[in-house]
Amino acid sequence: MARTRHYAEMIVRMADGTIKQINPLTGRESWYVPGRGSRPLPHHKPDQQKPIEPKEVEDYCSFCEARYLETPPEKSRLVKTEDGYKILHRLMPNELRDTKPLFRRVANLFEIVTTEYWEKNYDYTLSDDLKAWKEAYLSSLAGQKHAFGIVNTKLKMMGKSPEQIAAITDFPEREKMCDAFFGGGHELIIAGRHYKEGAKFDHELYSSGEMSEEEHYQYMRFTIEAVKDLYRINRYIRYVVVFQNWLAPAGASFEHLHKQLVGLDEWGTDIENEVEVARENPNAYNELVVNFASYTNRVIAENDYAIAFVDIGHRFPTVAIYSKSRNLRPHEHEPEEVRGMSDLVHACHAASGSAVSCNEEWYFAPEDCLDRIPWHIMIKWRVNNPAGFEGGTQIYINPISYIQLRDQLVPRLFQLRDEGKIANMRIGPECRLTPNPLMYNRP
Ligand SMILES: [Zn+2]
Repeated sequence: MARTRHYAEMIVRMADGTIKQINPLTGRESWYVPGRGSRPLPHHKPDQQKPIEPKEVEDYCSFCEARYLETPPEKSRLVKTEDGYKILHRLMPNELRDTKPLFRRVANLFEIVTTEYWEKNYDYTLSDDLKAWKEAYLSSLAGQKHAFGIVNTKLKMMGKSPEQIAAITDFPEREKMCDAFFGGGHELIIAGRHYKEGAKFDHELYSSGEMSEEEHYQYMRFTIEAVKDLYRINRYIRYVVVFQNWLAPAGASFEHLHKQLVGLDEWGTDIENEVEVARENPNAYNELVVNFASYTNRVIAENDYAIAFVDIGHRFPTVAIYSKSRNLRPHEHEPEEVRGMSDLVHACHAASGSAVSCNEEWYFAPEDCLDRIPWHIMIKWRVNNPAGFEGGTQIYINPISYIQLRDQLVPRLFQLRDEGKIANMRIGPECRLTPNPLMYNRP
């Protein structure tokens, strides 16, 4: 049960060097035990790097440019034109090569919350607009071939034999299976590139930290557009979970950068716990979270719109980035506020380096939540594997302390700023540590 905690119990330093931490919002407990922690190893180790064959058109995985038809019909793409960035919607297969997208938005082939779930439990049906798109797509020969091909892939990956797949010849049945591509609630935002430009080795991936700060802002903006759209197309969705799994230890099936969005009919335990704390103390996110991070010297970067610090009480070493805005949800933020968040998230990724496997998780007020909670993003380093001890005790052992994590990131941020690779921001000792920097509770 979530309850307001006091500073003295959130970080406890034991005489032997053990640091016990409790997350003020979720109540989750983590420990740093000296001696147990070794420096976390990057996922791609220097001695295991393999050269890659450079290609004009990337075809390294199903998300790559040469293999657009291995993903479901494209909902939209973000392209850079002479007049700035533009979003193109619902391209047909023959149009996919006309532009080079920075990011693409498609349905996830394997939904966590399925279209069938919404149909059976909520009588969800595709809107007229989505139905019309689907009909237009399937009425073209190339469109039907593509969509039905994806249905076959899905069936194959679900373990159906070629005979079983061939037996589904009924047009209405195949057509129904396509609903998930056009009106499902689990989506992917896929980066246009697999490797960064000029990459020679397989570790030189196009990651969040490798892109320019402008590209990262566009990535976020495009993702936020998709969040907005998911709420619009399925009126039963109460919350859209946004996350990014980077590299295999974080749960990614491809080393090709992508975010996932999943529409939910509930809020999830963490948000529920946070809301409970916020109800008890409407200033909790300042008092217990950000002010406390300042008093314990965990703040690593700041700009006028957001603040980043090393957080406590997580399963994994974690950096948190909080929006200072009065606006709550990402889609309610002004462009410059999104940019401020994006710049810090980008900088934290860049400072971590793309060899570190991590999860990026977004938290914001669900659509049906009246409580005021600020938009925040967690970047969790997947450098340890919770095992039996954690399972039995719910105490998570972190391999590095929050001080070690801070001291790894801050010098790197200075260096990246000097090199012009991240936006200008205040770093570590330059941060102002103004009390109550978050304005979320001042409507
Ligand atoms: Zn790829």
